[in-house]
Amino acid sequence: MAPAELGYDDTPSLPGSRWRVHDSRRPQPQVVTPGSAAAEQVGTAPSDATALFDGGDLSKWKSAKDGAAQWQVENGHVQVNGTGDIETVEHFSDCQVHLEWSAPAEVKGDSQGRGNSGVFLLGLYEIQVLDGYNNPTYADGITGAIYGQFPPLVNACRPPGEWQSYDIIFEAPKWVGKRLHKPASLTLLHNGVLIHHCRPALGPTDHKAAASYKETSAESGPLRLQDHGDAVRYRNIWIRPLTGYDASG
Ligand code: MG
Repeated sequence: MAPAELGYDDTPSLPGSRWRVHDSRRPQPQVVTPGSAAAEQVGTAPSDATALFDGGDLSKWKSAKDGAAQWQVENGHVQVNGTGDIETVEHFSDCQVHLEWSAPAEVKGDSQGRGNSGVFLLGLYEIQVLDGYNNPTYADGITGAIYGQFPPLVNACRPPGEWQSYDIIFEAPKWVGKRLHKPASLTLLHNGVLIHHCRPALGPTDHKAAASYKETSAESGPLRLQDHGDAVRYRNIWIRPLTGYDASG
């Protein structure tokens, strides 16, 4: 059980759950040591993928606020540098995403203050990036969590400074008029280990509030990476839009 100060005990209850948002009492996911293969070298994208960052430049990205993406590119990776979130110029809907990231090798801070970043599908649904290696925090905020909603099935973190991979299969929410027909759905492998399987999101990511689909939110949007003030690095980011894909078909 995490100490109370790692989370909250005054937040709303999550719908369909006995836990509160960022609940200190929610059990920590079991730690699993991932296999070694994924981290050893930079891979390449499949032939039909759109390379979003292949180590060169940030021409496929812009600042989420305004203007050009300003994160620091060097040695084949891009690093968060305090200039704010960045997002893809192109918008996507259902998609497969691969990316690799590493938390700063020099460990500073704890809980949500250690190696925090995030991957937002459609710019709205955050998969938490965090140095979750020997770093207790509230379960729905640990590495690979659908932030504020669902902890990962297990904690498959590598140590800080090592490269880690996310392979994401995302289905955008579907609307019929103003009625939600199908919630957003996420499948995620962390370092090759399944940590979410067709998990329906409760709604766009929120903090200290229960997520919900309050209105007809977009069925497409950018891929956004979070600047949470920690020098997290990314490399080898690619996406395969699943155009015409219909999981219910
Ligand atoms: Mg984050």
